Amino acid sequence: MDQRVTDVINKAREGVPPTYDEVLMLLELDEASPEATAVRGAANDLVRERTGNAGILLGQVGIDVYPCEADCQFCSFAKSTTCFTGHTTMPVDEVVERAKEFARGGDLYAFYLMTMNSFKEDYVLECIRAVRAALPATTKLIGNFGDSDASFWKKAKEAGLDGIYHVKRLGEGTLTEIPPERREATIRAAWESGLSVQDCCEPIGAETSNEDIATRLFEIQAHGREYGLHDCAGVMKRNGVPGTPFEGLQNEITNMRLGLIGAIECFVMVDQEDFPWMAVHEPNVVSLMSGANAIWAETGFNPRDTSEDTSAGRGLDVPAVREMFYQAGFRKLVLGDGSTVELTPEYMAQKIAEG
Ligand code: SF4
Repeated sequence: MDQRVTDVINKAREGVPPTYDEVLMLLELDEASPEATAVRGAANDLVRERTGNAGILLGQVGIDVYPCEADCQFCSFAKSTTCFTGHTTMPVDEVVERAKEFARGGDLYAFYLMTMNSFKEDYVLECIRAVRAALPATTKLIGNFGDSDASFWKKAKEAGLDGIYHVKRLGEGTLTEIPPERREATIRAAWESGLSVQDCCEPIGAETSNEDIATRLFEIQAHGREYGLHDCAGVMKRNGVPGTPFEGLQNEITNMRLGLIGAIECFVMVDQEDFPWMAVHEPNVVSLMSGANAIWAETGFNPRDTSEDTSAGRGLDVPAVREMFYQAGFRKLVLGDGSTVELTPEYMAQKIAEG
């Protein structure tokens, strides 16, 4: 075992995050090396100890789709490469039905509404109001929307939105048409409007440099210190979406590498006053054994999928996500109001019986 890795792990156990150079050293590890296994295992132990071996179950629905002007090169909706045409908007009643279906089991921490880059404010506010009224008080409502300003975020908050998932993505402004400053301005405006904010190191591809990943991880650390990431930090890998410049497995990292990066992020966040839930996307067991404890079920439109409804494509449903938590040894799910359910064999059997 490389002594430098042992030293970083021991520091993390004492609540001291690694330095930038130490993060680079960890990112350079062979994902199948004993050192990488030790890093993933240490993050797993650390996070489970802090949370009482708990996870959070999340759900998301994509509510509109069109050839998107942001033209992100990794996205199935990018205007240059998409196979989608026209502008399809999910009726509000259907959005509500999908939200109720996600929350039916009574153990959903948060439900996410997702739009393209630009969106119709009135429609989104109507969705927020209707979904908030339909969701139980134990489930938070989060927006994964395009950029907007404080006047919209204040209205969204009044309508019932709890927070946003909004990220300055890897390659923002070069792989996308969105200036990074615009993403940052949106995050600040939402925060100042009283919404919680979530961050993530994404989308990570095979060619993403360790320096870029390390820089992003420390931005998330700084973001957590300034705003507090009460719901989630996380990592997401880029899928090789057919028809995009990154098509194919050769452009993707493995779940072993994603698990390692997520574990390193746990170390980077280790001294946060309000240690966030650590999300991974897409859900996978390697990451759940590496410090991740927040995963999504998905339905509707999905930028990583060419299927019109991702529940028929890449997206998992709530029972599959719950089962993944159980099989990965998690023994509790925490809800949006802080209450918990025990993930016992009897609970799992009851949920299967409910269908
Ligand atoms: S990732 Fe989002 S903003 Fe970028 S092209 Fe796709 S839908 Fe538009």
